[in-house]
Amino acid sequence: MAQPEPVLSTRKLEGKVAIVTGGANGIGEATARVFADHGARAVVIVDIQDEKGRGVAESIGSQRCSYVHCDVSDEEQVKGMIDWTIQKYGQLDIMFSNAGIGSKSPQTILDLDVSQFDRLFEVNVRGMAICVKHAARVMVERHIKGTIVCTASAIANNCRGSTNVTDYTMSKHAILGLVRSASQQLGTYGIRINSVLPAAVPSSRRTNEEIQKTFGPFTRLKDISLTVKHIADTVLFLASNDSAFVTGHDLVVDGGLISVPNLTI
Ligand code: NAD
Repeated sequence: MAQPEPVLSTRKLEGKVAIVTGGANGIGEATARVFADHGARAVVIVDIQDEKGRGVAESIGSQRCSYVHCDVSDEEQVKGMIDWTIQKYGQLDIMFSNAGIGSKSPQTILDLDVSQFDRLFEVNVRGMAICVKHAARVMVERHIKGTIVCTASAIANNCRGSTNVTDYTMSKHAILGLVRSASQQLGTYGIRINSVLPAAVPSSRRTNEEIQKTFGPFTRLKDISLTVKHIADTVLFLASNDSAFVTGHDLVVDGGLISVPNLTI
């Protein structure tokens, strides 16, 4: 029986066209850079922070990277952004659906703010589903055996839930349902979809100091702090042929945090 080709190249995405939502900052920005470093022919950075998004695209290089303004919670904008990518680059191999927002303020179910809940779900759940839908449709129509990666959160792997970020925790659990269902539906077309579940990582939202204070004592990998590059490298694995037989999987990147007994976050 033919064995899968080992991937020896350090350029794992040679010739691929990728979209990265939420690419102006944090995990998305780091992943766009890793994709470009690994030979992607084009990386399309999608965000609503235009100045930052354009800055990232320019620093990667305008020949291989573009910025597109798109609110992922708006289906027309998402469809337009994907059509634009196809028109400009002729294909779409990788969708990293990553854009997301956090809880504006901590809240238990007793004081759930419904308007805050609705906006969070529009971006984190509806936005993620819309991006997966339109990327997958293009891949199916064009017979592209593409890969899709969605950013959930390590909190979706914590069976005890959270003590006070109810809306965010619910939204990230929903991503696991999306990925597991879509993996069944898209596998027949050779399209793989997986989720990455980061623990708290320094980004535009929180500093390393805040994170270390809260979670540092509980991580098993004591001499390593989680960075956005760790997440980006995991996304690269899921997006590339290195994970050719992995689909419908939730890959936790938490340094062993969630497996610590009795941790409540
Ligand atoms: P970030 O705030 O640094 O980056 C998120 C990006 O998404 C921003 O550039 C923002 O402008 C963009 N964005 C927000 N709403 C958007 C919309 N409607 N349309 C398009 N773009 C939009 O945060 P990050 O930490 O890099 O978060 C990326 C993903 O990782 C999110 O889904 C987040 O929930 C998830 N996550 C983050 C952490 C963490 O600790 N930072 C942990 C687990 C999961």
